[in-house]
This record gives sequence, C-alpha cells and structure tokens, in this order.
Amino acid sequence: MANTLGTGRVRLDMDTARADVYGPNVVVPKHFMNFTSDHIFKSNMTKQDTSPINTPMRNPPKVTSDDFALAFDIDGVLIKGGKPIPEAVDAMKYINGENPYGVKVPYIFLTNGGGKTEKERCLDLSRQLDLEVDPGQFICGHTPMREMAERYHTVLVVGGEGEKCRVVAEGYGFKDVITPGDIIKTRHDTTPFRTLTDEEHENSRLLDLDKVRIEAIFVFADSRDWAGDQQIILDCLMTKDGWLNTRSEIFTEGPPVFFSHTDVVWSTSHEHSRLGMGALRASLEAVYTAITGKDLNTIAFGKPQLGTYAFATRLLQKWRKDSCAIDKPPSTVYFIGDTPESDIRGTNEFNETTENDWFSILVKTGVYQDGTVPRYPPRKICDNVFDAVKFAIEREHRKSSKGVTVSELDYETSEEVPK
Ligand SMILES: [Mg+2]
Repeated sequence: MANTLGTGRVRLDMDTARADVYGPNVVVPKHFMNFTSDHIFKSNMTKQDTSPINTPMRNPPKVTSDDFALAFDIDGVLIKGGKPIPEAVDAMKYINGENPYGVKVPYIFLTNGGGKTEKERCLDLSRQLDLEVDPGQFICGHTPMREMAERYHTVLVVGGEGEKCRVVAEGYGFKDVITPGDIIKTRHDTTPFRTLTDEEHENSRLLDLDKVRIEAIFVFADSRDWAGDQQIILDCLMTKDGWLNTRSEIFTEGPPVFFSHTDVVWSTSHEHSRLGMGALRASLEAVYTAITGKDLNTIAFGKPQLGTYAFATRLLQKWRKDSCAIDKPPSTVYFIGDTPESDIRGTNEFNETTENDWFSILVKTGVYQDGTVPRYPPRKICDNVFDAVKFAIEREHRKSSKGVTVSELDYETSEEVPK
C-alpha cells in the first residue's frame, strides 16, 4: 500500500483512506500492539484480524481512529499573516500518522474567515500546509449560509475582494445577487467618498432601483470599505420591505441582515489583533440606533454560534464516512482555537448540548495572549498547535489505559488553565 505520509503531499482521498482501513496488507505497527486495549480504532482493528501482524515492514501503514476527531480553527492556529505557523506542518504530519502510535485522526477545519469559495480556500490551505485539504472537510464563516439560498431570491452580498463574494453566493444557489458595487455604479452619489475602480465598474451591474427588492443582506467577508458598505446596508435596512427606492417611516420594515461571524478582532502578522467583522457589526448596530432611534437585531453565523457547530457535526460525520468509512459519531472531538470568545466559548457551550464530548483547546499563537485570563476558559491551554494535537492523541491513549478515568484526566488538565 502506498504510504506518502511525511514524504510529500498527503492524499486523503477515499481510496487511500479505505485502503488504510481495509487493505489486504494492513499491518498493525509493533508499538501499536501495546495500544490494543485502547478503544481507538477498536472496531476497525477487528477487520484486520487476519493480517500478518508480526511481519516487520519498512513503512508500516497507519490506522485511522474511529473514536475521536479533531477540528481546527485556521487563523492564529495554523496560519498567521498568510504563512503557516512554524509548528503547523509538523502538527498535520503528526495527526496523519507520524506519531508513536501509528494512528491517523480524521479532522475538519472550522474558520470564521471567508471571502472565497471553499474550494479556493482549500487550495490556499493545501499549499500553505503542504497537505491536501478537501472542501468536504472545510467550513468557513459563510458556508452555512448556503442553506438559505432556497429562502431568499434577491440578496445584497457585502465584503471580500472584487466579485469573489458574488461568485460564492451564486455558487450556493442564490438566484439574484446584488453587491454594493452594483448600487454605486447605478447611483454614484450613494457613497460620496467612494469611487469604483475601473475593474469594479466593469464588473458591477446596472440596476433598475425601482424594481429591486432586497430580501436579505449577507455580510460574507470583511468589508474593504466600511463607510460605503455601511451606508448601503443602512439604506437597505431603512427601506419599506427591502424596496430600494423607498424609505420607511417606522424603521422596522427592512430586510434581515446576516453576518458570517462575530469576531471583533482577529490575528494577523501584525503584533496586535486587527478589527474584524464583529467590529463592523457593532458599528452598524450603533449607527442604526443613532439614526433611527430603533434597535437593530442582526443575525450571526460562525463560531461561537451553536448552529455552526451543529453544521460542523454534520460535516464531520459525512467526512468520516466518505473518507474513512466510519459510520458512527466520534466519542470526542478536540477543537483547537486561538480565540476564547469564539472558538472556546462555542466549543464549551456546544458541548453542553451534545452527547459526545467537544473538548476545547486554546493555543497561544493567535488572539489569546499568554499570561492573561481567557474570558471563556478552555479545558486545556497549549503553546501551539503541535502541542495541542500531541496532547489530544496522548490523552486518548491515557483514557484507555487501565485505572485512569476521564474525570481524572479532566481534573489533571484543567489545573493548567488559569482561573
Ligand atoms: Mg483564529
């Protein structure tokens, strides 16, 4: 069986993964034999009983755990300022089998970022981490919005570079996608201080404003022009039932506005966190109230919204089934993130609602600053993503060792979290 782990790009396609599980030459690595009391991969081990388990092999194949899984935030955990965090590549190798237990762990990515198609984001991530990432294991902030394409026909989509978010929205199935550029092209005095570039002008579409009714507003990615985009969102919110050339007198008749996440700040190459979409949301709500005297209730996706974690659960289940032929939920999902207010809060709160264990791990390479007290305490703090995945796999190993209970482990690890 071909094993490219650690020697180049890792192909986690269905054939490879199935071969890992069912292949005729599967051999349990010798060191893994000490591990057979573990419930890790227990059911799949059964399928390998006829394998020549004592035959030495130069490159022993890996076995895939069917009992636990990993979920990663991206910015501040794996990537920072467009470059991989130093420990990220080794961390991904570790969970793909380059560890003392010879175990591979299924995983997904759950980022609040967006602004590109999932396929495009996966290509970026594959290049950055030297690892093939499949859209089937990837959720960005706006991914759950695709489930709303059936409900809304004409929508205003805000944020991101150029036409990319329009392309994303149309890819989700939205039928009539309008951008701020379309409105500015149609009426250039909409935004007194913003002029479209030649490229934006070329790509934007002329509208008949008397005939356009915005049914919903979606902020897919970070705005590149807060003043202009806020002006246009406010104009839409203050209409009668979304008809663009109308103005409400009561300011409670506008369309709903959805944000793909609520992160106020995020981690970049700058030494201090930068403003994110949550800051735009707070600003928009404040300005709406200042102008209309009414509260604006916006709706958010992304972490820490529990709906996003429920979506992640469905994606993880499908990914484990499609890529690893595992047709049962994992007992534990380790979520590794850098932002207490989104990653840790969401994981902890979702854990209260689910039967399986969502275990929060906070790393020190992003928004969270070492030495401070996280507003939402994780169950474990690690220096970086490599330490986090090592901790998760070793914890699973210890969990199944005789005499150690899960509650003892939780006590052991929670002591390291500052209160
Ligand atoms: Mg992050």
